[in-house]
Amino acid sequence: MSVCLVTGGAGFIGSHLCEYLLERGHKVICIDNLITGDLKNIKNLSKLGDFNFINRDICEITGLDETHIDYIYHLASPASPDDFTRLSEEILRVGSIGTMNMLTLAVNKRARILYASSSEVYGDAMQHPQSETYWGNCNPIGIRSTYDESKRFSEACMMAFHRKYDIDVRIARIFNTYGPKMRPDDGRVIPNFITQALKGEPLTIYGDGSQMRSFCYVSDMVKGLVKMMESDYHLPVNLGNPNEITIMELAVIICEIMDREPDYKFLPLPEDDPKRRLPDISVAKEILGWSPQVDIKDGLEKTIEHFSRMFSL
Ligand code: UDP
Repeated sequence: MSVCLVTGGAGFIGSHLCEYLLERGHKVICIDNLITGDLKNIKNLSKLGDFNFINRDICEITGLDETHIDYIYHLASPASPDDFTRLSEEILRVGSIGTMNMLTLAVNKRARILYASSSEVYGDAMQHPQSETYWGNCNPIGIRSTYDESKRFSEACMMAFHRKYDIDVRIARIFNTYGPKMRPDDGRVIPNFITQALKGEPLTIYGDGSQMRSFCYVSDMVKGLVKMMESDYHLPVNLGNPNEITIMELAVIICEIMDREPDYKFLPLPEDDPKRRLPDISVAKEILGWSPQVDIKDGLEKTIEHFSRMFSL
């Protein structure tokens, strides 16, 4: 049994990760300051095993001096494009001070650390699909820059600490991920479409809906993160689903599954919204033997079920 620290463990991906680690018999310490995480996401986890929750901002003192830690999964950060301006300062702090604090902890504990980076490091990519060797096309002062630059800065920190202190690092570049426990009001496209459909409102399409994304179901993502931690590869790895769809196609699928007449409201495309985002996952396939298994329709059905239950409470 290993001791795993999960920062952002009460968030969407973090809480699924805590659950998966507990099911595999690990001890889990979850740290979250709950600015976008939610206690509801972790409320049953102590029934699964040795689970501890600490309500703390990782930019402040970590206070884990006496605790043995083998693995640090550093996921903490607001992550929805709506948060990029609303929580701009918090994002910049956690992606700089928070990451440096976690790296210092990793050095002190001689723990292995995985950083949840993002496809946002590629910005509005000029290369499709995006491979890990692509350096990206980011606007350093635009409205998405708080998040993009915090992720890029954190990656630089990970590699600098790896070189200087010889600690064992992992960098996962996470592409669009969805599933139960997303915040219904987090502003991302899948929660928006599902909650709008549940309320009988038109689905809000930004731009003409021709922009493309590829959506990875959360259980696939969590398995990828753990495989990465267990690997011996310290360079960035893309984790995401390589099946691309347009936002309009996504809206049609959600209406079909929910048995709704298509009803759309077109709104302006947000500034710097990437036109296309598609992971090249050949490194993940080769190094980790990982690729996503959950079909978009199955994943959306599970997600819709979750949101429907929340709305009927
Ligand atoms: N989007 C949309 N309607 C919404 C929310 C988002 O058309 O209600 C679009 C958004 O402009 C983007 C895509 O859906 O092109 C994915 O947005 P999301 O916020 O989920 O994540 P992103 O990929 O931008 O990080």
